Amino acid sequence: MTNERGISRRSVAAGLAAGLAMPFLRRPAFAQANDADVVVVGAGAAGLAAARTLREAGLSVIVIEARGRIGGRVFTDASLGPAFDAGAQFIHWSETNPWIGIARDLGLTLTDDGGWTGPPDSFVDGARLTPEERAQRGSGFSALSAYTRIKAGAPDISFADAVREAPTQVARAARNLTRFNLGEEPERCSLADWDSLWAGENMMVREGYGTLVARYGAGIPVSLDSPARVVRWAGERVEVETDKGTIRAGRAIVTVPLGVLAAEGVRFEPALPAATRDAIGGLTMGALTKIALAFEPEAVRGLNPGGYFDVWGEERSLSLEPAHKGQPGLVLGMLGGAYARALCEAGEREAVAHVLDRLVAMAGSDIRKGFVGGRLTPWWTDPFARGSYSLALPGRLATRDALREPIGERVYLAGEASAGGGAMTVGGALLDGQRAARAVAGLKRG
Ligand SMILES: Cc1cc2nc3c(=O)[nH]c(=O)nc-3n(C[C@H](O)[C@H](O)[C@H](O)COP(=O)(O)OP(=O)(O)OC[C@H]3O[C@@H](n4cnc5c(N)ncnc54)[C@H](O)[C@@H]3O)c2cc1C
Repeated sequence: MTNERGISRRSVAAGLAAGLAMPFLRRPAFAQANDADVVVVGAGAAGLAAARTLREAGLSVIVIEARGRIGGRVFTDASLGPAFDAGAQFIHWSETNPWIGIARDLGLTLTDDGGWTGPPDSFVDGARLTPEERAQRGSGFSALSAYTRIKAGAPDISFADAVREAPTQVARAARNLTRFNLGEEPERCSLADWDSLWAGENMMVREGYGTLVARYGAGIPVSLDSPARVVRWAGERVEVETDKGTIRAGRAIVTVPLGVLAAEGVRFEPALPAATRDAIGGLTMGALTKIALAFEPEAVRGLNPGGYFDVWGEERSLSLEPAHKGQPGLVLGMLGGAYARALCEAGEREAVAHVLDRLVAMAGSDIRKGFVGGRLTPWWTDPFARGSYSLALPGRLATRDALREPIGERVYLAGEASAGGGAMTVGGALLDGQRAARAVAGLKRG
């Protein structure tokens, strides 16, 4: 399937039938568009923003996207009926986040109502916490910041090291913080990375963050279902090899996720410079995962609107939000770290059945009768994501900046991983895509 610019097999067949075959027969599938000033690889927030900026600067651009849709890790999924954001949901640091203005311009509805009304029901190993245990858990969170405060001049350490001598409830709070906010276990999360993130209030788009990004990108010609296989960057022009042909351009902006770069989901010829490979190695991907459960609204009307938290075998933290975004039958589960990786690898059927079992254990078996279906969005095993978002390993924060170094003045990496204080976010991805495009537009045309 293609979107405006790409030429699909069907259009070639139609050309043959109309006697217009000759030009297509001698040329690759990107026949009329295989050459441009810039090729942008990936049509998530960074790639779409880069493409818009380049086009505004008067450059010709080809955008290729591996999936059959744009938006990347921002996707509003309505396949169960009620819609939920399977990837990004919150517009973080909303005071300065450019998506706020874009949402307003597009006439979408902004809200600061994050659901979760009232205190959640919290469980450990299926046993409801007593009021004393709840208070203890609260005190763990209150005390956590004293342990995770960065000490001037001290080397960066992981969250796990920061709470090594702390009381159990503080260590537990650290685990829940990193699993739910970073999608990762505290051993692999850097205090400096967390501390470097821009702070601010969260907002949401009622129609979905994925809807917002999709509408923002709607006017940009994108060749869908066109994964880049090889990027050759040593010659006069960059060549990007896809299953539909080879694109040649003066410059390439590559916005595939850090996880895809690390897994060599796109091959570079020659290999990326040692400094870039080192920068990629300084980052890792978390595995924040959402599992949505849909019910007949009546069956789950009695669920606690404050939600459910389950810490299970201490190894697993799961949150469940009933009536997500006010939608009566929808319960949205969220989890991260090793637990999320295991469920992504187990697949949708097993993951959904497991989360339904956990909810039944907390809320009672009556709800099972009203269960309609579930959806796992397995970012961790998704070949075009390879995780939820990037994390700097302890001591490796500087590698985010190193990723911004142009490669042979031909290839520019961009996306959330190189977005500085906007790392991990859709807002950061947009700003970093614009940054790379401006750098390219400031150069002579290739
Ligand atoms: C579960 C979850 C929750 C999140 N919550 C939030 C949140 O609340 N707020 C927030 O701001 N952020 C959140 N994020 C992070 C946010 O989604 C990302 O930081 C942001 O979307 C990254 O944008 P990007 O353009 O850098 O990358 P992507 O959106 O991943 O775009 C890269 C594009 O490249 C494509 N691609 C991959 N390989 C190839 C290839 N070989 N050839 C061509 N194209 C390719 C991909 O399909 C994708 O479309 C969340 C992420 C997840 C997974």
